[in-house]
Amino acid sequence: MEPGVVIIGAGHGAGQAALSLRQFGYKGTVTLIGEEDAPPYQRPPLSKAWLAGEVQFQDVLFKPDELWAAQNINLITGCRVTDINCDKKRVQCDDGSSVPYANLIIATGGKARRMDCTGEDLPGVHVLRTLNDASKLKAEMQKGRKLVIIGGGYIGLEVAATARKYGLDVTVLEAENRVLARVAGGELSAFFEQLHHQHGVKIKTSMLAQSFEGQDALTGIRLKNGQLIDADLALVGIGLIPNDDIAAHAGLACDNGIVVDDLCRTSDPDIYAIGDVTRHPNAIYGRSLRLESVHNALEQAKTAAGAIAGREKPYAQVPWFWSDQYDIKLQIAGLSGGHDETLVRGAPDTNRFAVFYFQKGRLIACDAVNAPAEYMAARMMIAKAANPDRVALADLKVPMKEIMRDA
Ligand SMILES: Cc1cc2nc3c(=O)[nH]c(=O)nc-3n(C[C@H](O)[C@H](O)[C@H](O)COP(=O)(O)OP(=O)(O)OC[C@H]3O[C@@H](n4cnc5c(N)ncnc54)[C@H](O)[C@@H]3O)c2cc1C
Repeated sequence: MEPGVVIIGAGHGAGQAALSLRQFGYKGTVTLIGEEDAPPYQRPPLSKAWLAGEVQFQDVLFKPDELWAAQNINLITGCRVTDINCDKKRVQCDDGSSVPYANLIIATGGKARRMDCTGEDLPGVHVLRTLNDASKLKAEMQKGRKLVIIGGGYIGLEVAATARKYGLDVTVLEAENRVLARVAGGELSAFFEQLHHQHGVKIKTSMLAQSFEGQDALTGIRLKNGQLIDADLALVGIGLIPNDDIAAHAGLACDNGIVVDDLCRTSDPDIYAIGDVTRHPNAIYGRSLRLESVHNALEQAKTAAGAIAGREKPYAQVPWFWSDQYDIKLQIAGLSGGHDETLVRGAPDTNRFAVFYFQKGRLIACDAVNAPAEYMAARMMIAKAANPDRVALADLKVPMKEIMRDA
């Protein structure tokens, strides 16, 4: 059989790329090779509904299991690709097999960043990236246990909210002087700190965790200031490292992620990369980005599959993301980094408001808390680099449709 498309990884992006190839009429062989023992599944519920025990594994599958065979997609799980030979156009797997390709898509995502400190291997210390990680954490989340979360980013805060549902005693340690400091403005950080306080979570900012203490299991976390915080369980939620090592080893251009163009092509024209592992250009922001979001993984998957199937459509998207904590639905459109002006529409104490971020007059991002109309309008206005009227935007009586029309 002629070599077809091989996709390294069997996560969110990989699954979508395989299906999009078929949707775009690609007739060759399509092979997904994933190192996890599971078919493609959705990671967002791992810190939310799945961790809370509200949904089963079947509910978090990316697509029903039988679809892969029905679409004539070879799904190989529990198999790690160890090497890419760009000259011979083959990938080498850890089971000794090697698979030829005409086109390769790298969709390897990333791994949870670790602290690399004393005690990190102690039982009770967790990271959260895979279903396996989530299963181990869930098994230890019993009422009354002390959970310390290192990192006040979205995953850390979502796990804090879920852990409170189980009745754990939860502390969040954040090195910066506010939670969500890397991704949101002060208004949103203050809102989430207050929300977690109301639910009994202790948030300690400007606190640097230094090591884990315990003999046979975790008993505490030592801070840089010498203080010891008692803990039965810890979650290290300090970000992601892109899995770009096999690409770099194969000689593909990498820069904290695999460098791709707007068709998701790497420095080798037969090889594409998609999802969390890519560094890609974004015309709206005029710079290259590495994003960790479902939307980006899905859209880049469609772009790469389209390019391979002869339907080239450059990737040009407003990034978006969401987070669920308690009864709060946060929707984020765009990227707020570099903003020089903010405007709050609605009042945070009503649990329904939106923060709009501007740069040089232009709307670049919006964090919408239980405010879907603001979020949807923001996505559209960001795409057209709009400069909406501030007085109207601050006035809840003026509908978003009107503001958008006039912007
Ligand atoms: C707990 C959690 C909550 C999240 N919540 C949200 C959310 O609310 N909203 C949102 O937009 N995003 C969320 N995300 C991020 C989102 O899940 C990712 O952006 C998305 O999964 C990226 O898809 P991907 O295909 O690039 O990578 P992944 O889904 O990570 O898939 C990559 C796969 O490749 C495999 N792999 C790596 N190297 C190899 C190799 N050499 N050989 C074979 N296989 C390999 C990996 O094991 C993995 O299975 C969350 C992530 C986590 C972990």
